[in-house]
Amino acid sequence: MIDRISQPFYLPAIFFGFAFLTSPYHRYLPESFGSILELGPYWALTLIGFLAAIFNRGKIFLTTAVVLCGYTLLDASGSEDLSEIQRSTFAFIVTLLIPINLGIISLYRERGVLTTSGGIRLSILVTQAAAVFYLLQNNINIPSWYEGLVLVPPNLWPTFLPQEQWPFYVSVIALTVSLSTSLIAPTPIKNSVFGATLGYCLLIWLQVAHHIDAAFVIAIVLLLANGLLRDYYNMAYRDELTGLPQRRALNEQMLALGRHYTLAMLDVDHFKKFNDAHGHDIGDQVLQMVASQIKKVTGGGKAFRYGGEEFTVVFSGKDIDEAEFHLEKVRAAIENYEMVIRQQERSEDTDNTSKSHRKKGSFRRADQKVSVTISIGVASRQSRNESPDDVLKFADEALYKAKGGGRNRVSLETARS
Ligand code: GH3
Ligand code: MG
Ligand code: MG
Repeated sequence: MIDRISQPFYLPAIFFGFAFLTSPYHRYLPESFGSILELGPYWALTLIGFLAAIFNRGKIFLTTAVVLCGYTLLDASGSEDLSEIQRSTFAFIVTLLIPINLGIISLYRERGVLTTSGGIRLSILVTQAAAVFYLLQNNINIPSWYEGLVLVPPNLWPTFLPQEQWPFYVSVIALTVSLSTSLIAPTPIKNSVFGATLGYCLLIWLQVAHHIDAAFVIAIVLLLANGLLRDYYNMAYRDELTGLPQRRALNEQMLALGRHYTLAMLDVDHFKKFNDAHGHDIGDQVLQMVASQIKKVTGGGKAFRYGGEEFTVVFSGKDIDEAEFHLEKVRAAIENYEMVIRQQERSEDTDNTSKSHRKKGSFRRADQKVSVTISIGVASRQSRNESPDDVLKFADEALYKAKGGGRNRVSLETARS
């Protein structure tokens, strides 16, 4: 739970913390760095926008576009030659329109960039920009208009909240929405959109010096880049059906093993028959259940989907006997797990009087309980010249023994010469 809550926060804390803490030292940078600090945020945002478009990640793309607009106006509002109307219009966009858009983007489902939905979403942003441009061109003072809209009747705004700070609460709401989407179902992209929203809100709340702004925007870009990379990393390393890391991740983990470890191969018993009896879809649901039980393995074991209905658990720094204890718990948990399957069942028989109220050939919902067992083979590294691949082979042999011994059991490797 703590982990889940800290997940969206830990990278923003590091990146924004670093940006903030190092900012007093910016003045020690050579003069020529000045222009980098000026242009850096624009370059970085534009590049991450391109990357998001190339990799078709709409939420990152839109977040980047919105932050770019916000930062540009924030940057421009420092200028001396703005009229009063321009200044207040910029403030309206920066403090209100941008946070609202960021909150809405966090609610979007991923629909890509160069797609119909992506185009519609982008055109909503462009429409807002065009509307603001029109108002600026015609010297229409937005703030007088929106204060009227939101603050009248004024007695609706809670009196305990300072009246002039209400846009602050709008950004708090946008940030809360963004955080909630991350907490409910965290993904790297949602976390990075929350990180960008947090960074942007800090910019407008803190009203920090200009050079810190630049460092914050670079930190936002790094968070978005991290979201993009992690999303692709997960696609390559995580199995889609079970959510477990898959073979490629296992190979990487095996490279990192030390001298002392135990490996286990786990295989669902008679799964072919199970699929034949219940269908492939229910087979998939059972695999998900099995994976979620294996994932809960205690003793520091790390679970992988090896392929098909086979899984691997890696115990780094554990003896075979210790590992056996934890694997036995997994085996028993799966044996005792009864999964309720809800399925649409076709009823053709009209002879059966108890079902006679149903029309011939109609569908009914039937709940059915199913369960499976697994067999496990375990082996540990015993001599210096054994590679993880060798040990995995011994675990596979032990698995074969478990199958031969009647299944639904944990077998340890046989003594080897
Ligand atoms: P044993 O007890 O000897 O392991 O018998 P088994 O039938 O489980 O053995 P086998 O390895 O021959 O069969 C594996 C079956 O697992 C074949 C395939 O139909 C099924 N299977 C593999 N991957 C998936 C999957 O992703 N989803 C589903 N539903 N079935 C799968
Ligand atoms: Mg198998
Ligand atoms: Mg099997």
